[in-house]
Amino acid sequence: MQEGAELIPSLSAVAAPGGLIADDVYCAFRDEIVAAARATEPDGIFLDLHGAIASESTNDCEGELMTALRQVVGPSVPIAACFDLHGNVTRRMMEASDICIACKENPHSDYHLAGDRAAELLVRTLRGEIVPVSSAVWVPAVLRSKLETGSGPLRDLHALRSRLMVEQRSVLDVSLFNCHSQLDAYPGGQCVTAVADGDPGAAAAAAETLARALWERRTEFAPDLPSLDDVLTDMRSGKLSGRPVILGDYGDRVLAGTPGDGTYILRTLATQWPELRVVAPVTAPDAVAAAKIAGSGGVLTCSVGGAFSPHEKPVVAEWRVGRLGDGNFVQRGPYLAGEPAVLGDCAVLHSGNLTVLATSRPGLTQDPEAFLSNGIDPAHYDVVVVKSGFHFKLSFSGIGPCIAIGTPGLSNVEGGMFPFRKRQRMWPEVADLEPELTATVFARR
Ligand SMILES: [Zn+2]
Repeated sequence: MQEGAELIPSLSAVAAPGGLIADDVYCAFRDEIVAAARATEPDGIFLDLHGAIASESTNDCEGELMTALRQVVGPSVPIAACFDLHGNVTRRMMEASDICIACKENPHSDYHLAGDRAAELLVRTLRGEIVPVSSAVWVPAVLRSKLETGSGPLRDLHALRSRLMVEQRSVLDVSLFNCHSQLDAYPGGQCVTAVADGDPGAAAAAAETLARALWERRTEFAPDLPSLDDVLTDMRSGKLSGRPVILGDYGDRVLAGTPGDGTYILRTLATQWPELRVVAPVTAPDAVAAAKIAGSGGVLTCSVGGAFSPHEKPVVAEWRVGRLGDGNFVQRGPYLAGEPAVLGDCAVLHSGNLTVLATSRPGLTQDPEAFLSNGIDPAHYDVVVVKSGFHFKLSFSGIGPCIAIGTPGLSNVEGGMFPFRKRQRMWPEVADLEPELTATVFARR
């Protein structure tokens, strides 16, 4: 490391979004990281975390991990953490750490910059150049749409965030966490954090200013995704002329934890525009197993998809089996560039205008390599469906127009598929909420 620090790695683990982590797995991972801190007695701790991990026994895995680390290293060893901006910031996370910051962009193109910033602040703390003081304001609001940071209200709010750091030089970071609307964990909602150099008033003021600006604009985040009909109308009229059109299946986002077996777009295009060449990934383990028996070049009649998501329907057809594969590939990025991904055993199935990338596991398909590694060139299609709402716009950039559309499914933009039992009461479910939006300051030194 250029600052002259010796890095002592502990554990790195990644999982696709989904249900709760089994407790034995989570506890083993937590204990391994804590044991590494105990054994090595580090001068400082750097954590690269998502921020919304929940296990069978706790909704606050990161907070529990950070608290356990604090107990091991004592009060004087600085702990810095960088998070995905969709993290669910808890009081325990703030109490246990010195520096908590989020990435700033959705789609996420700046994980590395957030990590650099957290590491830089940690090193400056160790050198005695700064004394970090943190603050947090929790904003009890569910934001369902307009969640990209390069446009709409979040673009303006991030411009304000940047100005706050310029105007008050003691403010070292301001982060805006947009917790997932469907996460059922306390507190949920939004959180603004700030880190200032020895200046609790500045940390509090920066977080409160941004939190109040977010609250003022909360009604602008109402669902407004285009429908499949909207896109087809634009394609027919020539208003949308680029090919292939990359459609983000917002209601069935595997990156939001869905099964990835939604077939709404496939079924609609098969009946409404049969000359349009369409390729879509669908989680369909039974179809993959049947295709492996039929073999490449074989023909079979079976249903594809609609087996796991409630209210979904399968596509039943006679399929010609194309390539069979093991589903392992490396993402080209820029989102998650170089990271391995797993689709499980795969079968490419053709029927009429439809090509299905049948996977045996819900797979990350926001990256072109998911298709290319299975012999599917997106350039040969009019429509490419991906199970992603944001990040495909980074990785499919330059291949065709990228549009997230409102579709049915467990991650649909309107929500309402599950009752919430754990998160705090939030706007707009509670219409007359009037939160104080005052900062809590966390000054550990
Ligand atoms: Zn995220």
